[in-house]
Amino acid sequence: MDEVLGNLPKLAKEKHAENKKFFAKLKKKPPKDLDYVMQELHEEEFQRTDCLTCANCCKTTGPLFTTADVERIAKHLRLKPQKFIDTYLRVDEENDYVLQSVPCTFLDAENYCMIYDVRPKACREFPHTDRKKFQQISNLTLKNVAICPAAFNIVEEMKRRVKLK
Ligand code: SF4
Ligand code: SF4
Repeated sequence: MDEVLGNLPKLAKEKHAENKKFFAKLKKKPPKDLDYVMQELHEEEFQRTDCLTCANCCKTTGPLFTTADVERIAKHLRLKPQKFIDTYLRVDEENDYVLQSVPCTFLDAENYCMIYDVRPKACREFPHTDRKKFQQISNLTLKNVAICPAAFNIVEEMKRRVKLK
């Protein structure tokens, strides 16, 4: 997996122009069965991918935290929400709460999430490849393929399977 992750930014860069063009077309006229196809591609890829050998999202990016995330995780850690924010979070350029530093503090040495059951919504949904109306998150996906090998493979397979006019 280390080699895959090492090569991923370069591979994603090589595919960037092609992906951008594909997503621009997809946005203009998404196929009617896109949600169904994405669900299928996502499930197929994650049957092959073991996130515990990777954790690159937790190591390099980290999620944004909604108010509901903060309240749920703070309660789990028996902290006041403000104490949780002061200890672990900062406000980013887009005014969202994000981690103060990466790798995420809650990632353990074996790549397990120490707050798995109460983890942020963004962590549960990453890399968002089974999201409905997938064409609406093209810009985010263009970035995620450089971080997440599963997202990269899903987009490659998507370009093969989804025929756009
Ligand atoms: S979601 Fe993607 S980046 Fe995160 S651990 Fe799984 S394969 Fe790796
Ligand atoms: S909260 Fe858990 S799943 Fe989310 S980035 Fe941290 S370790 Fe990864």
